[in-house]
Amino acid sequence: MSAFPAGTILGYPRIGRRRELKRALEAHWAGEIDDAELEARTAELRRATRERLVGLGLGRDDSSIPESFSLYDQVLDAALAVGALPARFDELREPDGSVGLAATFAAARGSGDQPPLELTKWFDTNYHYLVPEIGPDTVFAPSSARLVRQFAEARADGFITRPVLVGPVTLLALSKATDAAALRPGGADVPVFRPIDRLESVVGAYVSLLADLREAGVDWVQLDEPALVSESLPVSAVELAAAASVAYRALGSAPRRPSILVAAPYGQLGQDAWRALAAAPVEAIALDLVRGVVPLPTSGLEGKTLVGGVVDGRNVWRGDLDAAWSSLESLRGVGAHTAVGTSTSLQHVPHDIADETGLDPRLVSWLAFADQKVAQVATLARGLAEGRTAIEPTLAEASAALADRRAAPGVRDEAVRSRVAGLAEDAFGRTDAARRRALQEDELDLPLLPTTTIGSFPQTAEIRRLRGRRDRGELSQAEYEELLRLEITTVVGLQEELGLDVLVHGEPERNDMVQYFAEHLDGFAVTRHGWVQSYGSRVTRPSILWGDVTRPAPITVDWSRFAQSLTEKPVKGMLTGPVTILAWSFVRDDQPLRDTATQVALALRDEIRDLEAAGIRIVQVDEPALRELLPLSRGAQSDYLDWSVRAFRLATGGAADATQVHTHLCYSEFADVIDAIAALDADVTSIEAARSRGELLGDLGESGFELGIGPGVYDIHSPRVPPVAELVALIERTLEHVPLSQVWVNPDCGLKTRAYRETVLSLQNLVEATRLVRERA
Ligand code: GLN
Ligand code: ZN
Repeated sequence: MSAFPAGTILGYPRIGRRRELKRALEAHWAGEIDDAELEARTAELRRATRERLVGLGLGRDDSSIPESFSLYDQVLDAALAVGALPARFDELREPDGSVGLAATFAAARGSGDQPPLELTKWFDTNYHYLVPEIGPDTVFAPSSARLVRQFAEARADGFITRPVLVGPVTLLALSKATDAAALRPGGADVPVFRPIDRLESVVGAYVSLLADLREAGVDWVQLDEPALVSESLPVSAVELAAAASVAYRALGSAPRRPSILVAAPYGQLGQDAWRALAAAPVEAIALDLVRGVVPLPTSGLEGKTLVGGVVDGRNVWRGDLDAAWSSLESLRGVGAHTAVGTSTSLQHVPHDIADETGLDPRLVSWLAFADQKVAQVATLARGLAEGRTAIEPTLAEASAALADRRAAPGVRDEAVRSRVAGLAEDAFGRTDAARRRALQEDELDLPLLPTTTIGSFPQTAEIRRLRGRRDRGELSQAEYEELLRLEITTVVGLQEELGLDVLVHGEPERNDMVQYFAEHLDGFAVTRHGWVQSYGSRVTRPSILWGDVTRPAPITVDWSRFAQSLTEKPVKGMLTGPVTILAWSFVRDDQPLRDTATQVALALRDEIRDLEAAGIRIVQVDEPALRELLPLSRGAQSDYLDWSVRAFRLATGGAADATQVHTHLCYSEFADVIDAIAALDADVTSIEAARSRGELLGDLGESGFELGIGPGVYDIHSPRVPPVAELVALIERTLEHVPLSQVWVNPDCGLKTRAYRETVLSLQNLVEATRLVRERA
């Protein structure tokens, strides 16, 4: 068995430097390219990645290059590798029974009337994974074909790579019970089924996968077990550690296997899990030393390698390389071989800062994207091999960049700092909700079960083209704005025709709900090619929040005023909340998030005041990322919830009582933040419910929530048009938990990714379903 390489990364961006994966997937889904062409293009992408990584200093044939590509999602890949394709997609299997592209994409995106797997946040990141469905009867049939093919493909080019797979404990901890299993009654003698109950069978499947990999010539395999750092999963940390102990004892004792690296990214590995892994017969453990600290020595480490994840896989800062080196030195004291790595996969950062020729060179000198981080790993690995003096000049350069950043203008703005310091406590909230409600009822005069949408209407190719033409100077700003006003006029007209009650302007002016604000606030920079994968073919381009945040001028007011001028019905002003702006940007790491959030909140507070002055009566402040930033460790959660709720309350706390404040939350299991949702004190909260069986509603009903609530009854993440009867059932299910007077009817998110065809049909059904329920009520 070969030794673990001195430096590695846990994963590399998959989307491609110029979004090649996105283009290939979309062309394939549109029927423009066939299976073979998709495979060829993605193989080319993987080849380019390996060459690049070698160029940046990773070894060609020492297993330091992770084979971390995925066509859609790494959790789906792991589920399919153990054969856990939900039965509803069985007919899409290949003639020989294997799971090919058709079944894979059906599981990811739905097929006909069959809904896809649920989509939810990957730990506290902005990446989304597909939630596997596991039942007591799921038959696990290991399938190593994809892993083996990619390894062989690399080997044919002279690379020995390290296959990466989500590990068995994390796979099960992130899975949900199949509908059939969830509906089985529990009881004293029939415990409720949980996917983790299937650990033994799943480990059996992994044993067989590992044997296949060994046979294919794999030296090292990486099993990702981020579940082991989380305290906010349905399975407790103690149970997860016990599961890891069982799983890795079994995998490590398997007769034919590659060497195993177990990676624990995204946070501090708990004591139990650390001891379990140290004692297990695996060869290497990767630790997140950015979020976590160097662990205490424990037994079982002799002969193992600890990979110190000291290069941050989640942000874009060049960081403190000298401090990273010091962490590695203390890791050396723990009593194992030491290697250097990234704290997480680099899938969360863009490819290469060298592509950002439009950014201020001074800002660029403070940044590191994936490629720069790989080079940092290579530098530190050289330090481990040759001693600190060998890398001293590089450490010194990084320190100089850091010092320059601390002193640069714009990083501190004394005006906003003194405004924050002078805030009184009553800025952080509004008056009594009942009083607001009465005033708003008078002002708005809405029917029972008011219907609305979440904000965006389809961002057609036409709209994106307009933006492109404006950016290239083919359209003047005035012409561009005139065309957008035409679009808004159409969208408002359509909503009136559909009979919706509260309208939106459709957000055609926004390339992205965060970037749009970043472009209009001081303290942010925007990249050209800084795309990161959100899920599947979806990418976002996070802005870089590098300095103190201020609002030089109103941002959304003209658009909202114009939309409102077209209709008697209320039009919602539409803002992105402070937590979401932070969550979906790369945020400065030189002050607490709380302080940055307060500055953003003040800018939004001023924007709301200006919207009111322009005649807007409802303002929605979207916080889809509220749950996403929740720390994985329980200890840090209450502080987070405190500052995030306070930021929202500061942003909205200046609104008049008669102004109805909405918020929108999506994508996540909100069960553990119900109190925080109530504390936001938004007059109306719309929430994702279509895809996750609406468990939240029961909890909300029980918690005595008295504000308005709009369960997302129409799942906008797939092109499927929900039939009226299904929507009626979802609305009525809500009414079992929440009093009629509190309920709103809306889709579960914005419509920007949808086409008009299905959007119009779906909204027609939504309005019709509401009408039917109103009649019966
Ligand atoms: N208002 C935004 C929209 O409709 C909200 C999007 C989101 O929650 N992700 O697009
Ligand atoms: Zn949403």
